[in-house]
Amino acid sequence: MEEMLKTEDLWVSIEDRQVLKGVYFSMNYGEINVLFGPNGAGKTTLMMTLMGFPKYKVEQGKIYFKGEDITHLDLYERAKLGLGISFQRPPTVKGVSLEKLIGIINTNGRSREYLDSIIDKLNLSGHMHRGLNDGFSGGEMKRSELLQLMVQRPDLVLIDEPESGVDIENIALVGEAINSLLGKDKVKDKKRSAIIITHTGYILDFVNADKGYIVFDGKLLCRGNPRDILSEIKKHGYRRCAECR
Ligand code: ADP
Ligand code: MG
Repeated sequence: MEEMLKTEDLWVSIEDRQVLKGVYFSMNYGEINVLFGPNGAGKTTLMMTLMGFPKYKVEQGKIYFKGEDITHLDLYERAKLGLGISFQRPPTVKGVSLEKLIGIINTNGRSREYLDSIIDKLNLSGHMHRGLNDGFSGGEMKRSELLQLMVQRPDLVLIDEPESGVDIENIALVGEAINSLLGKDKVKDKKRSAIIITHTGYILDFVNADKGYIVFDGKLLCRGNPRDILSEIKKHGYRRCAECR
């Protein structure tokens, strides 16, 4: 079976600054892959490039999703193919309420009952009529991002630091939401997949990740068991990994 996602020798710049320097990555359907790495290594850049944000300029290399070359597809076309993203720092949109946005995203016509049940589960009932992310706490923003993804239901979700700004109690909630999003809470879903960027690794306590990588200086290094990689980072920092390659 072909891979769900593959990048070949991906070089990406932002405003003439070379950030990704030859990323080779591939993942199969149904997998959860985790990216670690120091600040500024290029983790967010990789996700934003996969999603197709125009600021991230592909200088060289290819991106394939479900067997199709998507390197030069527009963002909305990638979304239609089944890609979705949860931002590290989602923007504030004062004139658009979360309720309104959910209505726009809900192209599959999910019932009011279903929407209310997930809104309730994510503890967002009191936030639906406020401007999007307007004055939301870090944790509320992350939950709002997950709500949007649960309505969109992409086949591959790119989740950038789901636990940043989330207090310890709510990390379990975020973890459950990710599992539910991926259908991993019920019958094992063979298809839904995720790439998750994590700094702290807390999310690994709630989500059953298959593979981990370290992003270091614009490259992908050290593929392995995510828990082993995390304990290695805790013991020796990131540099040791960069040296051993
Ligand atoms: P990470 O998510 O691993 O912390 P990023 O992908 O956000 O790293 O950033 C990688 C590098 O690209 C950093 O050096 C960062 O300063 C730079 N960068 C990110 N966004 C911009 C931008 N809009 N303009 C210029 N440089 C940027
Ligand atoms: Mg980042």
